[in-house]
Amino acid sequence: MTMANAFGVGDFERLSAAEQSMITRRERVLGPAYRLFYERPLHFVRGEGVWLYDAEGRAYLDAYNNVASIGHGNPAVLEAIARQAETLNTHTRYLHENILDYAEALTATCPDELSQVMFTCTGSEANDLAVRIARSHTGGTGIIVTAHAYHGVTATVAAFSPSLGPNVDLGTHVRTVAAPDPSLPAEQMEAAFADGVKAAIADLKRHGIKPAMLIVDTIFSSDGVIPGHAGFLKPAVEAIRTAGGIFVADEVQPGFGRTGEAMWGFQRHGVVPDLVTTGKPMGNGYPVAGLIARPEMIAEFGKNSRYFNTFGGNPVAAAAGMAVLRFIKDQDLIAHTRDVGTHFLRGLEALKTRFQGIGDIRGAGLFIGADIVESGRPSASLAARIVNGLRERQVLISASGPDANVLKIRPPLVFTRDHADQFLDALEQTLSAM
Ligand code: PMP
Repeated sequence: MTMANAFGVGDFERLSAAEQSMITRRERVLGPAYRLFYERPLHFVRGEGVWLYDAEGRAYLDAYNNVASIGHGNPAVLEAIARQAETLNTHTRYLHENILDYAEALTATCPDELSQVMFTCTGSEANDLAVRIARSHTGGTGIIVTAHAYHGVTATVAAFSPSLGPNVDLGTHVRTVAAPDPSLPAEQMEAAFADGVKAAIADLKRHGIKPAMLIVDTIFSSDGVIPGHAGFLKPAVEAIRTAGGIFVADEVQPGFGRTGEAMWGFQRHGVVPDLVTTGKPMGNGYPVAGLIARPEMIAEFGKNSRYFNTFGGNPVAAAAGMAVLRFIKDQDLIAHTRDVGTHFLRGLEALKTRFQGIGDIRGAGLFIGADIVESGRPSASLAARIVNGLRERQVLISASGPDANVLKIRPPLVFTRDHADQFLDALEQTLSAM
């Protein structure tokens, strides 16, 4: 018996009886839409810092999970959640200090223009809300995204998440642009991306569709991890604004210090978005997400429709979010991320000189993408073998990009230089064994 998973077909027989039973139950009760990672799926029972532990007590180095960004089981977050949960957990229709303190602290991490925040439970909800606000503010409906973008699961958002594949319809109001091409010289990359956005705007207009927004993940994770040079987004942002649309920075991936340069990915581009959406690392695992806005963006929307999200921004969510912000600040985590990321990249570059399979390496802070190639061409199969080889050596990453050949290295930010060295050793062993 075989099973499908993210990297092809695994060997069911090699799994323990307990794992086989869980997979069978999973398929029976969760149905066919879910996917597991790895040819030999993992069953974790505990996490601490950068380590995940399986049912046999084996430790795996987590170089993939960006939700527990300040470490699995971070005590400061746990304590904040527990304390608030035992005191009170209601919602945003009552006055409560936590939500106000947190909203003020969160907007304080942004440029002054971005001074209001609306809370959701997921990044998808934040992007869904961004669409409603963009449409209300601009009177347009057109949405421009990159060719392999992922922005979430709601019906509206899935319709502008082309990485879901050809079987998930894009809306007729959606246009895709080629992601920035990291193989081009800086100026050409910048111009090509802006030209793509302008062409998409022209095409929308030709079809009688007024543009509402350009939305990009500011590190282009699912397009293959493309930090690019600082500032390259500027002309594209100007183009959408000139056309009457707004710019939405999806910070679900790069936000909260991951790029090692600033709190937010857009800050390396010297642009101030009209809306910023965020989620994943915001509560270190507690579901907190939201949208940060220029007040003029939500003025019209707020007049016309009330907003209430039952769980979004409840006092426990706000306590978790606040603990994360404090930890980032107290531990000087952005500088740490920059230091470890630089060390990590250097190690990868050194490996690249010895192994032909490693192509271009890109990174900002602790978001690193490494192209895997065979005879100079993208190789999804080699990337999958590396990902699975690392898994056998108890190191966790994944692969992404339109050709599924980019090693996606995205550890919790509490990763140290020592952890990076352990990763590099395991990668070296994996490559040597091939
Ligand atoms: N935007 C980006 C860039 C994402 O990577 C994701 C999740 N992978 C989302 C939005 C959606 O977030 P959520 O899964 O919390 O709905």
